[in-house]
Amino acid sequence: MVKVLVWNENRHEKQNEEVAKIYPEGIHGAIKQFLEADDVEVNTATLDEPDHGITEEKLAETDVLVWWGGHMAHHEVKDEIVNKIHEHILNGMGLVVLHSGHFSKIFKKLMGTSCDLKWREADDKERMWVVDPTHPIVDGIGEFIEIDKEEMYGEHFDIPAPDELVLVSWFEGGEVFRSGCTYRRGNGRIVYFRPGHETYPTYYHKDVQKVIQNAVRWAKPVGREYPTYGNAKPLEKIEPKS
Ligand code: ZN
Repeated sequence: MVKVLVWNENRHEKQNEEVAKIYPEGIHGAIKQFLEADDVEVNTATLDEPDHGITEEKLAETDVLVWWGGHMAHHEVKDEIVNKIHEHILNGMGLVVLHSGHFSKIFKKLMGTSCDLKWREADDKERMWVVDPTHPIVDGIGEFIEIDKEEMYGEHFDIPAPDELVLVSWFEGGEVFRSGCTYRRGNGRIVYFRPGHETYPTYYHKDVQKVIQNAVRWAKPVGREYPTYGNAKPLEKIEPKS
């Protein structure tokens, strides 16, 4: 069974009644529920726990880390924890970054770019088109996913060209956005999936849930040993050259 750690900043839920009403168990609670329904073992962790709830022991038993962080508190995540997560990803742990996690320290460190974008909170309709119908993270999804109201994220999105571009969003106000992207870093697989602004009930949308369920399965470790780097003994005898 895939073991997932769902991490959430969990501040909006405490400070904004509107958000608390939509997600009474927190965004992490909502994500935990639909992942468990898909036969995944789920732990949760939040920013205000000691070490943000991310200990070495917890990471060691995590196959895939799911990350929801809002713009409010990315800077409060300790660098030493980010470095630990980074190391686990290079060693094969999967990472699924949701929505405003595009600005999290871990995503920016993995991408090496600003990860900046345009945004607007104006109840735009979003239509997310599947542009790679063969990709496992869109299994069971039709030609597109439609979300009645969402925050708009627009290009240019300052990320390196994705290894695979799976979903592209159109917004009612006219913008487009690369909403489903995958990357490989070391032995780890990374998915960025855009929707999920805290004031909308997006994580109850069946297709959004399906993509996250698929993403978790796709990003799970492939079980390969970390490569041996550095000075290497020859595998064959090297003939002396005159
Ligand atoms: Zn947002």
